[in-house]
Amino acid sequence: MSQVPQSMIEIRDAVLARRVSAAEVTKAALGAIERENGRINAFTQVFAKAAMENAARVDARLASGETPALAGVPIAVKDNMCTGPDLARPGDGAGYAGFTTCASRILEQYASPFTSTAVQRLIDAGAIIVGKTNLDEFAMGSSTEHSIFGATRNPWDVARVPGGSSGGSAAAVAAGLVPLALGSDTGGSIRQPAAFCGVFGLKPTYGRVSRYGLVAFASSLDQIGPITRNATDAALALEIMGGKDPLDGTSSLHASPRLAQMDPHDTEPLRIGVVKQARSGANHPAVAAALESTIAQYVKLGARIVEVDLPLIDHGIAAYYIVAPAEASSNLARLDGVRFGRRAKLGPGEGLEELYARSRGEGFGAEVKRRIMLGTHVLSSGYYDAYYNTALKVRRRLLGDFERAFETCDAIVMPATPGPAFRLGEKTGDPIAMYLEDVYTVTVNLAGLPGLSMPAGLAEVDGRALPVGVQLVGRAFDEARLLSIARRFERATDWHARQPPR
Ligand code: GLN
Repeated sequence: MSQVPQSMIEIRDAVLARRVSAAEVTKAALGAIERENGRINAFTQVFAKAAMENAARVDARLASGETPALAGVPIAVKDNMCTGPDLARPGDGAGYAGFTTCASRILEQYASPFTSTAVQRLIDAGAIIVGKTNLDEFAMGSSTEHSIFGATRNPWDVARVPGGSSGGSAAAVAAGLVPLALGSDTGGSIRQPAAFCGVFGLKPTYGRVSRYGLVAFASSLDQIGPITRNATDAALALEIMGGKDPLDGTSSLHASPRLAQMDPHDTEPLRIGVVKQARSGANHPAVAAALESTIAQYVKLGARIVEVDLPLIDHGIAAYYIVAPAEASSNLARLDGVRFGRRAKLGPGEGLEELYARSRGEGFGAEVKRRIMLGTHVLSSGYYDAYYNTALKVRRRLLGDFERAFETCDAIVMPATPGPAFRLGEKTGDPIAMYLEDVYTVTVNLAGLPGLSMPAGLAEVDGRALPVGVQLVGRAFDEARLLSIARRFERATDWHARQPPR
C-alpha cells in the first residue's frame, strides 16, 4: 500500500474493483502493525492468524459475487468490546490473542464466548478485525496510561499521551495502521483521543449503536463509535453499526442514517451555535485559535453564527463524576472472582469474603478502585440525595439547556479538550487534573447527544506540532446533518489530511 494511509472507502473500492484482495490488504495492515506497534503500543493483541483466515473468507465472498460494503477493510476494536472464538481463540496462532481484557488484570484471561453486535455487523459487511487496542482500565481515564499493557504513546510525539480511554484506537488510526478503529465514549473517550491524535471521532446519540458486548462502565452514558480519518468514513461505519438490536433494550428504533442521507444537508443554510462559556481564557491558546478559525471557516461557508448559553457546563464534570462512578460501582460488582474475573488463591481457613476481597483487590488497578469507592459512597444511604439525586437534576437541566440551544442552531461548536496532548506521567498523580480534561465532552454524554471531534488546527509545543480538535454537537439522532456539517469544514480545509512525522 502507498505511504499515505487510505480511507475506508478507498480500500473498499479497491477491493471491490479487484485491484487488491482482502488478503493483500490484511497482510499489509498486519505488517504495518508489526513495524509500528513497538513504538506506540496501540494494540493489546494482534489477530494475525485469524485475520488472514477471515480475509480469505471475504475474498471467497467476493468471488461468489457478493459486494459487501466494507469488503477487506482492516479494523481495530477497543479491548472492552467482546470478540468471540470465531475471531481469535486463545492459544490459536502465535502470541497473546482471543481475550477481552479491558486492560485489567481481572479480565486478562477472559475469553468471551460471543462477539459484540457492533463488531459483528462490521464483520458481516466484510471488515477484517486485525486486533484489539489499548485503553485505560475499564475505559476509566483520559490518557491510556492506566493499563496492564503499559501506556500507549501519541504518534505525533511519543513522549505524550494519545488521550483516553480509547487511546489505542486513536493512535492506531493516526499512525495509519487501520482506517477505522472502534472506541467507546462514556465521558469523552472517543472525542478526546481523536483530538489528541489528529483524527476524526464520533460519539453517536445514546441508543444509536447497540451496547451488546461492550463491557459496561456507566450504562446510561456508554456508546460505541468510530474513529476514522474523515467524516465520510465515520458515516459509513455508523450506517453499518447502528440501528435496533434485540439484544440491547436501550438501542433505539430509529433506523441508522445511510451515508447518502448526508448529501441533502450539504447545501442547507447553516446555523452554528457558539457556546458562550466555552470561549474561556482557560483554554490553551492553540485551542482558542482553532476554535476561532473554525468559526471563521463556517462564516466563510455562509453560516450564521449564534451565541448559545450553557450556564451549567462547568457543573457537568461534578455531575458526571457522580453518575459515572455510581453506575460503574454497580456494573463492576459482577467481577467477583466467582462468575467473572481472575480468582485469587486462598490460604487455609479463608472463605468467601476473602475470595471476593482478594480477587478484587488484586485484580483492579488504583483508578478503578477509586471509582468503585466514589460510586459506592455517592449511592450510600444518607448521601444518595445529596450527591446522586442532585447530579441527576443537573443532568436533566443540561439536556434542557441543549434543547433550548438547538431551537436557534443546527450544531454547536466548542473545544473538544482544553489543551493539546500532555506528557506521559504529567497528570497520573493528580486525578482531579485528569478529570478536568473532560470538561467539554461529559455534558454531551449526560445529555445523550451525538458529538464529534474533528482535526481543526495544530499547536506548536516545545518545538513540535501537536493536533488540536474541535467538537461539534448535534440534535439527538441527527448524525446525518452533524456529519455533513463536519464534512463541509473538511472540504474547505486540510487539517484532516495532516499526518504525524515519521
Ligand atoms: N475520561 C472520562 C473518565 O475517565 C471518560 C471515559 C470514557 O469516556 N470512557 O471517566
